[in-house]
Amino acid sequence: MSKEFSDPSPVTPVQPVQLGPDDSFQFRCHKGIACFNKCCENIDIMLAPYDVLRLKKRLGLSARDFLDNFTRDFQMDGHGMPGLKLATKEESPACVFLTPEGCGVYTDRPSACRYYALGLLSMRKKDSPADEDSYFVVKEDHCLGHLQPKTQTVRDYRKEQGLEDYDAINREWRQIVLKKRSGGPAVGKPSERSLELFFLASYDLDGFRDFISTPGFTELFELDPAEKQALIDNDEELLRFAFRFLKQALFGEITIPVSSEAAEKRRERYRRRVEQLKRDAAERKVLDQDKQYESLKDE
Ligand code: SF4
Ligand code: SF4
Repeated sequence: MSKEFSDPSPVTPVQPVQLGPDDSFQFRCHKGIACFNKCCENIDIMLAPYDVLRLKKRLGLSARDFLDNFTRDFQMDGHGMPGLKLATKEESPACVFLTPEGCGVYTDRPSACRYYALGLLSMRKKDSPADEDSYFVVKEDHCLGHLQPKTQTVRDYRKEQGLEDYDAINREWRQIVLKKRSGGPAVGKPSERSLELFFLASYDLDGFRDFISTPGFTELFELDPAEKQALIDNDEELLRFAFRFLKQALFGEITIPVSSEAAEKRRERYRRRVEQLKRDAAERKVLDQDKQYESLKDE
């Protein structure tokens, strides 16, 4: 299966030819083909936020229940940025959704499954404001689709596979991931809290919905009540808002108005907490010194 963010190299099945949207490649997958289901029998599929949204809806589950039962965690980088992969069956490396008749969630299958046998690589050139996508053919020995007499452009293939909806949302998230990985100007070593927020806003959409309904969020962010209700009622809008929130929290890109009064109250609470911690530390030091003097008296 194709892997987003992977680099093409001679030891992988990725063909070393970069394709643009109007380049053509030969491939056709269909139900009667001899290798039917082979590609889903040994998977390593990374999930993006819109994949999770579609699958949890399809299964009628909360995001948390979907994550617990159908995914496994992995770290996307050395700083522990949380990633998700599609779970496999207990007894084999086959996809948890694979059935003898084919994919059990076909119309909501993840974008990596839709792209196969293409691989996607997103890159931002130096001084360019936007990422550019390029594509590679992935040729694995078991896949007979490359021998089928059908040639199409990348653009037509993406359309046929329903990838435009997926990429329209996931692209923005990929940009956040790339920026966080490469450490933009305002980005230092990520705190535990920032990694938790990244997970919540990226994958646990129902948890994020609860988060924006908390009194703390409502106090800090000045969101029009009607706008907030529209977010609560619409998963896709909520996910787009979650990306805005992430950019604000991680990179300081302010698009959600913050109440200055609430921000000042928070800063004041923070200052008081720091003062208290300093006082506690000084008290502990005095107590330690007292103990040392006491022990000297006994000698
Ligand atoms: S989700 Fe469907 S297409 Fe993707 S690996 Fe699983 S069974 Fe195959
Ligand atoms: S042609 Fe390739 S993608 Fe289609 S079922 Fe066979 S192995 Fe899977």
